[in-house]
Amino acid sequence: MKKVFIETYGCQMNVYDTEIIKSVLGGSGYELADSEAEADIVLLNTCSVRENANRKVYNRIHNIQQGRKGEKVQIGILGCMATNFRKQLLENPKLPIDFIAGPDSYKRLPQLLEDLNGNGKEAKNFDVTLSEFETYSDVYPAQSNGVNAWIAVMRGCDNFCTFCVVPYTRGRERSRSPENVVDEVRRLADQGYRQVTLLGQNVNSYRYEDHDFASLLEKVSEVGGIKRIRFTSPHPKDFPRNLLKVIAENPKVCKQIHLPLQAGNDRVLEMMNRTYTQKEYLDLVDEIRSLYPQMVLTTDIIVGFPTETDAEFQETVKVMEEVVYDSAFIFKYSERPQTIAQRKFPDDVPEEAKTERIVKLNEIQKRHSYQKNLSHIGEIHDVLIEEESTKKSHDEYQGRNDGNKIVIFPKGDYHKGQFVSVKITDATANVLRGDVAEVLRK
Ligand code: SAM
Ligand code: SF4
Repeated sequence: MKKVFIETYGCQMNVYDTEIIKSVLGGSGYELADSEAEADIVLLNTCSVRENANRKVYNRIHNIQQGRKGEKVQIGILGCMATNFRKQLLENPKLPIDFIAGPDSYKRLPQLLEDLNGNGKEAKNFDVTLSEFETYSDVYPAQSNGVNAWIAVMRGCDNFCTFCVVPYTRGRERSRSPENVVDEVRRLADQGYRQVTLLGQNVNSYRYEDHDFASLLEKVSEVGGIKRIRFTSPHPKDFPRNLLKVIAENPKVCKQIHLPLQAGNDRVLEMMNRTYTQKEYLDLVDEIRSLYPQMVLTTDIIVGFPTETDAEFQETVKVMEEVVYDSAFIFKYSERPQTIAQRKFPDDVPEEAKTERIVKLNEIQKRHSYQKNLSHIGEIHDVLIEEESTKKSHDEYQGRNDGNKIVIFPKGDYHKGQFVSVKITDATANVLRGDVAEVLRK
């Protein structure tokens, strides 16, 4: 029996896809290896959203090969790099890889691996076909986390933000049926999972016959055993009001919204094809807060998009100061092959300016995160225990509160997967600390 090791790069969607891959390969007689060193086949499930994700994978390929000191290992490149860099991956003779497979080809993996064995071909195998229909509805992913389970409720994206490679690497948007999603949630609840996170590139455009994302959330919340539902990401351009209402009112839906801003200036937003203005974004934030004042808000921001001036960048600063996010992922613009921005707009903001801008936004965010976290001191938060808090200390647990913030507390007799209520006694910009006040019977 051949042993396979899979390494995952990038977003939660890739983490979920790796679970699908494990399930497909497990069902075809492959054994999963615990480490790369003991594997006959190493699969890298890759990301190509930003340049440094790619670079890591290229380095890793060489590193795996060198580690084997001449002993044969088969290497497969899966995921977004396979669709985005197909030509380079297949045609570079110095790259020691055996095959590539895109995000819609995972059911074909057993066949691709089979074809590798003894085919004697010099050419590398590949399948990077993008499908309009593949949602892996018939594959039950091999979830292993035990506390939170990811579930892709849709795949692909039709938004074509000009900076983004996802529509090219993951293809057209398609939704899974609510029955199929609920069926998967039920199975997970039976296995003991208490939290699910529903994934899609833009969950607001989830559609299946008469169902939208709000009705999907309601259906998932009816599954017994599931206590918390998270989701990511909604797009600020088309946030349905009925969805806001469900988030604010359904007690199982966590009170956190990831609302990617990307930029604060209207001209830049238009060049990005985000299809909302600064005012529309801020109005949405006001509406969210009027419905649920304590809603935790997080975001994604890109600095140094082509032609962004210092004055325009200051408008991103202004929006951040106005919204005061609980946390933010801030990225330097990274030109991606095939995207509209790459074809139309030269990457002309100097690296130093990008660095200056990202440093500035990270400082602001650190201040805001700290300010928000300090405001929780003295409150009692329900926490779902995830794991020991650091590899070094065995004395503390960490879990997450409803707003998805990490909470650390002394271990006591509690266990992973349990809900406890924790009195918050201390805070940094990154975590909350406290003591367990009560074990919750959830
Ligand atoms: N669909 C999600 C949304 O619209 O929020 C985003 C998915 S994307 C994989 C995650 C984040 O990566 C984006 O929100 C954006 O901030 C960032 N990103 C995408 N393309 C990028 C690029 N070319 N350069 C820098 N950051 C990028
Ligand atoms: Fe990319 Fe925009 Fe789609 Fe998000 S919504 S995946 S940023 S194209």
